[in-house]
Amino acid sequence: MTDQSRLLDLYVTGLKNAHAMESQALSIMRPQASRIEAYPEVKSRIERHIAETEGQVERLEGLLEQHGSSKSMLKDAALSVAGTAAALGHVPAGDEILKNSFADFAFENFEIASYKSLIVLARAAGSEGDVAVLERNLGEEEAMANWLAENLEPLTTKFAALYAEGERAKS
Ligand code: MG
Ligand code: FE
Repeated sequence: MTDQSRLLDLYVTGLKNAHAMESQALSIMRPQASRIEAYPEVKSRIERHIAETEGQVERLEGLLEQHGSSKSMLKDAALSVAGTAAALGHVPAGDEILKNSFADFAFENFEIASYKSLIVLARAAGSEGDVAVLERNLGEEEAMANWLAENLEPLTTKFAALYAEGERAKS
């Protein structure tokens, strides 16, 4: 195996890992969006990011196909994301909306790190033509992470107000 084909292997493995990550993102966000009642602004931003994530999955599948991996080969082995897995499976509690917002922020930043690294691997593998597509996914993760960061304080203020009123305000 040549050095260049080893680098291409490394990159394609990274693409498959990104695909698994996006599948996990959907499995985290879909139940969240469906549970939220008292925070329509959060619900609609998550729904928008679900739609974006579906596009990300399609773009990754397009790149994988270009590199000879068919859709059926993507089995998305359970991803071990240290730290996030534990944080993401919240048992419904009074402050579910807050804990999910912390966990979503952590996950978006995991995605950002993952795409930045993958872009380096794409270039190392000589797949410069893939970079624009990966940067589009990266930009959507950055926008979502920024939104979550900016929303954290207003969300907490709203949560506290609902809590003070005696509302369950759990989701
Ligand atoms: Mg994503
Ligand atoms: Fe994301």
